[in-house]
Amino acid sequence: MQDQKNDAAMRRIAYFSMEIGAHSDIPTYSGGLGVLAGDTIRSAADLEIPMVAVTLCYDKGYFFQIINGDGYQVEHEIRWDFSDTFDLLPKIIDLEIQGKKVKLGAWKYEVKGEHGWTIPVYLLDTDVEGNEQWQRNFTHVLYDSTPFQRIVQEVILGIGGAKLLEELGYKNISTYHMNEGHAAFLTLYLFNKFKGDLKRVKEKCVFTTHTPVPAGHDQFDYNLVKDVLRGQTPDEIRKYAGQNDLNMTKLALSMSRYINGVSKKHGEVSRNMFPGTKIDYITNGVHSRFWTNPHLTKVLDSFETDEIHWADSWFDKIWKLDADDLWRAHTKAKYDLLDYEKSNHYVLFDREILTIGFARRFTGYKRATLIFNDLEKLAKIAEKKIQFLFAGKAHPRDDYGKSLIKMIDDYSEVLWNNYRIKVAFLENYDMDLAKIMISGCDVWLNNPIRYREASGTSGMKAAHNGLLNLSVLDGWWIEGYKMDPLAGWAIGPAPGEPGCEENNDRVEAQNIYTLLEKEVIPLYYKNRSEWINRMRHAIALGSYFNTHRMIREYADKAYNLIEQPRWTTSELL
Ligand SMILES: *Cc1c(COP(=O)(O)O)cnc(C)c1O
Repeated sequence: MQDQKNDAAMRRIAYFSMEIGAHSDIPTYSGGLGVLAGDTIRSAADLEIPMVAVTLCYDKGYFFQIINGDGYQVEHEIRWDFSDTFDLLPKIIDLEIQGKKVKLGAWKYEVKGEHGWTIPVYLLDTDVEGNEQWQRNFTHVLYDSTPFQRIVQEVILGIGGAKLLEELGYKNISTYHMNEGHAAFLTLYLFNKFKGDLKRVKEKCVFTTHTPVPAGHDQFDYNLVKDVLRGQTPDEIRKYAGQNDLNMTKLALSMSRYINGVSKKHGEVSRNMFPGTKIDYITNGVHSRFWTNPHLTKVLDSFETDEIHWADSWFDKIWKLDADDLWRAHTKAKYDLLDYEKSNHYVLFDREILTIGFARRFTGYKRATLIFNDLEKLAKIAEKKIQFLFAGKAHPRDDYGKSLIKMIDDYSEVLWNNYRIKVAFLENYDMDLAKIMISGCDVWLNNPIRYREASGTSGMKAAHNGLLNLSVLDGWWIEGYKMDPLAGWAIGPAPGEPGCEENNDRVEAQNIYTLLEKEVIPLYYKNRSEWINRMRHAIALGSYFNTHRMIREYADKAYNLIEQPRWTTSELL
């Protein structure tokens, strides 16, 4: 058991993330990045990694999504009381922002592993007595888009977080892990602490990038940086963080001893984006037990599976899984989903119909409306055979993302009125709804513009539950499909094949229709036993695309915690 007094001193990995999706009741995440952080910490707790995590305590969370009568997203501030969930630390530290003192408090939450090992998560908070009101607002909402608010939040995370850990007695941190560039100011803190010794900073820092497009990287005007940080920026900052603007990714790249992307392809894309930088990859995963539905879990637990490396052992054993047991578990999960759907939507879904799910953040590159590109063609194929379920939030300031939500509402009307095809959009996508959807649909649709999806973890969750992925070859699916093409279908060309960079909506939609008509529908309705067999192939992918495997790779390649022979991706690829 952990000895409280020495606990801080033995923690060696400090994991920094702007968002952590610990739980649906803790609404301090917006999407994949935060959920990945949550899964990472859950697996680190199970595998007893000496980690501590830092994030911000957004007392208004992200937002609660309602779809109004006209099909538009309406955002509501979340009211939640975290004082029961988190413990308030007595410690208050001082930060300096715009040359003024800001008091920074913190809350503590513990993520408990299967065998009782816990990972402390510290949530930083400026809503502290003694701060002026405008300072108290710093940590109200996640991803506040004004550059000032945003840089301040990142200063709080990076500098505030590093300082807090020190003051709490975390004296033996050998690795600061920046989960995305948001935390990169921690390198400035270390740079100042080590009196400009870059080598020493680099020895301590590792960086995981998640963003495959240049526009996605946070950049700040140096005037703003100077105004906010005053004397805390080194003179040679432009050398490390970019000449014209301070680019958080560049800063993190310059200051890290190990850098990785989150899938094989994303590693490659990142290397092309930052030539001359050594960038490895560690493919993302999801926490298997967390994301596998209870009905299937029961069936899988009846195997003699290794308790800790639960999903790892599926690879050998899944083939013996009884078809009836598997189908029964899936049917129960599907009924759970449809019960939820019916009590939350006026479109009443049918239990016997092939159900295709699409749920993720609503942002342009994910092309949520691609399936509706040619309504007549779709209708011919899908009539009486497919129902579509959507969910996802658009960032409050992403008007295009919001318009996509409205468009789905419009398509839903047309498809019902003219063809009796059911399309429903479920409100307020969060981890709970994600779990219901990735458990109970039959097919998981994913059609991003190629090479923009760094990884895409919802498809991994779906595979764990025996859903078949119908996906563009991007992010994790390039690897997943290669490992086992029976786990789903690939939309359009593979990387390197003709047309792979065109992303022509019309062509891609036709590809989806052809797959649905020629493969997905006949298999589902006419060859159920082969469908069930394919579900086994999907579930088997869970033995690789899980955060236990992922965190072991980090422990080995990024954290230098494992001295044993390397557990490498090449064994399976
Ligand atoms: C898993 C998950 C995501 C990430 O999905 P992608 O496929 O990576 O887009 C986003 N939001 C929630 C709530 C999730 O559970």
